[in-house]
Order: sequence, then C-alpha cells, then structure tokens
Amino acid sequence: MKKLACVTLDMEPDYGDPEKRIRLLEDPGFLERYISVINKHGAKVTMFTVTSLFEPRGEGFRQLAGRIPLEFSVHSHTHDPRHACSLDEVETSQKAFRDFTGESPLGYRAPIGRMDKAGLGYLFDHGFAYDASVYPSVRPGEFGYFNLHMPNVPFRVARSDGSALIELPFTAIEKVRIVFALSYAKLLGWRVYSLLLKFFGLPHIALLLSHPYDFYFTEIPNSTVRGLEYAALARNSKRAFEYFDNLLDALKKQGYEFAFVSEAYHYALSLNLKTLAWEDWK
Ligand SMILES: [Zn+2]
Repeated sequence: MKKLACVTLDMEPDYGDPEKRIRLLEDPGFLERYISVINKHGAKVTMFTVTSLFEPRGEGFRQLAGRIPLEFSVHSHTHDPRHACSLDEVETSQKAFRDFTGESPLGYRAPIGRMDKAGLGYLFDHGFAYDASVYPSVRPGEFGYFNLHMPNVPFRVARSDGSALIELPFTAIEKVRIVFALSYAKLLGWRVYSLLLKFFGLPHIALLLSHPYDFYFTEIPNSTVRGLEYAALARNSKRAFEYFDNLLDALKKQGYEFAFVSEAYHYALSLNLKTLAWEDWK
C-alpha cells in the first residue's frame, strides 16, 4: 500500500487578529520561508480556502501557486463556526470556487471540523466528491468534539439513494489520537511530538493540518485570543518554520510520498474502504 502525505493549509484570516490580515501572504519574510520549506522537501500543498477570499486575495493566491505545487479546495465561504456547513455556505462556496478556478470543487472542509449530517447531505446534493472535516480525536470547549469512534483513515459515506463521498479525516497520531498538526507539534514541543510520531506512527494516508497563523501567532499584534488558549497557541511560536520543516522531514523519513488531497482521494477510491451509512451519521 502506498504511503501518501498531504500538506494542508487552511487559508483564512489570522486567528485573533482584529485587522483580519493574512501575514503569511503579506509579509515577504514569512512567505519566502514558507515557499522555501515546501520546495526543499518537494511537498505539495492543498489549500482549503475560505472562498470569500478569492475576490480580494486572488492575485496573491495565484502568485503562490506559481511558486509551489498548490491546489485549491473549499474551506466554507465565510468561516462562521455557527454556519460551518449550512446550505448557504455550501452553495456560495461552490459558486465562488467555480468563478475563481473555472472548475467545480472536489472537496469541502468545514471550519473547526464542524461537519454534521445535514451538511454532509448538502455536499451529496451538490456533487462534492470528498469531505475533509472530521477529527478522529478529542477537543474540549464550545466547539469541542469527542470522536474517538471515527476512523483515522479515509472512509466512504454512502447514502441510500446510491450517492457516496469519501471522508478524509484530519489525521491523528495512531493510538494516542493527537492531531497531526503544526499547532500540536508546537504545543507539545518537538522532543515529545517527534517521539509520539516515531513510536505510534501515522496511517498510510496522512493529512498534515496547518494555518497561516500557526507560523507566527505571537507576532499578531493586539490579539483577541486570551488566557489558556493564547498560551497554548503561543508555545514555540518562534520555532514554527523549524517545526514545519521537521514535520515534512519526518514524513519523508517514514517513507511518505507527498500528494495533493485530490490525489489521495483518487487513490482512496481504489482501496477497500470502510463504509458508513449517511443515515446513521452522528
Ligand atoms: Zn479554519
């Protein structure tokens, strides 16, 4: 079986920034570092994009696509966690994606992984081929989840009318179910995180989660993020690019080949995947 690793970048305004900037695109220091780490490893980036950004940010996205292997996918239209996968979000994001790329989007990722049964139904209705929104892990808090029952590998979701889509869940480190994300590597520190990666490993299709702000969280002035959450996101902030480099290096050393999420999706179609009935979705 092939081992595929997908670098995913959720393109959205910097978290906690009252100005809603995206410094990864605006600050040449951040942008060039990002590009150099991606190209150093020959990685490919699937950018789950908040589609309302195509209009104001399209030029910057196209420039980035000229510098690294990049494909676009959908990360809702407005990134409102209370309407993460509403009918309106699914429809407007699909339209904005088509207007920008000239093609229909293959996949959808809901903000903070807030996909539900109704939202999946809208994806079926609108012909999406995959969803990439399920965390097979645990998170406390208002937008928390407890998803240890969810597979850590791609699976099929089938509806009784014969339609099906592939769920590509957020990857977690096996057994300990810690999210495979730049933010978690920073939170735990590289010594601990790299040991977990080494001992428990990742499934054969692994999606690495990252956001622009993961690369410079403490350099966002006047952050609206407070308390424990701030402290968690601020850990090892200055080492973010180094950690990102380490993560891509670890993937290569574990025998992974870099792929776009669309390529992982096509490969997953050839596998004997577990199927969940949409009607039983919880
Ligand atoms: Zn997001």
